[in-house]
Amino acid sequence: MQLEFPWRDESTLQHELESVSGFRLDLTLTNNTSTMMSLKRSRVEKKARLRLHRMFLTANAQVIRALATWLRRNRCSRSSTVINEFIKENKHQIDHHSPHHGVRGKDGRLRDLSALYRAINRKFFDNEVDAQILWGRMPSRRARNSIRFGSYSQEENLIRIHPFLDDPFVPEFFVRYIVFHEMLHAHLGVGESPDGRRRIHTREFKRREKAYPEYERAVSWLSDPANLHHMLRSRKKNSGA
Ligand SMILES: [Zn+2]
Repeated sequence: MQLEFPWRDESTLQHELESVSGFRLDLTLTNNTSTMMSLKRSRVEKKARLRLHRMFLTANAQVIRALATWLRRNRCSRSSTVINEFIKENKHQIDHHSPHHGVRGKDGRLRDLSALYRAINRKFFDNEVDAQILWGRMPSRRARNSIRFGSYSQEENLIRIHPFLDDPFVPEFFVRYIVFHEMLHAHLGVGESPDGRRRIHTREFKRREKAYPEYERAVSWLSDPANLHHMLRSRKKNSGA
């Protein structure tokens, strides 16, 4: 499972907010764990100093509009609801992020891949998948213009999961989906068409993948480029690279 990513960055977010609100902004993004947003503004000058949690990099157009409304006036219960919902849905992005937080196992990992694998095997494959699963290696810096979340090697009967996914920012349902996807490869095998080409995502594969209950949720999380942006950014920071 591999993907290329363009993304939204801080200045894009600032431009979007400025153009929707009509305010000139001094925007700071934070990893604050208690205050998700704070504002100092001059309505007369249409200027504001705004501090937002980094999670807002992943905000959709509706949330951007709600933020703009909040900038322009004090109270608006409809936009407060939109913003509060967004914050609730993005709790997983709140910084338990720093190396000092987050419960890590003996292997130094936040997530237990074998446990995810066993649960998925039981639930979706009648325990029939018999492959190994491991965290992949952290890629070198220059290899970071695309990301392979997971891979399955038929020769080694081995599933590798990208270490970027061992991050509290990435919701567990997304990691489960990637593990499921690679297990489905292990289960169905890699076929060959009559012309000798490898057939990987066959019609049967796609049908089974779409039937996976968290498929839509995972795909929609992935379709927001800001999520990838955030994931890479936080990994770079934490690894000091
Ligand atoms: Zn695949």
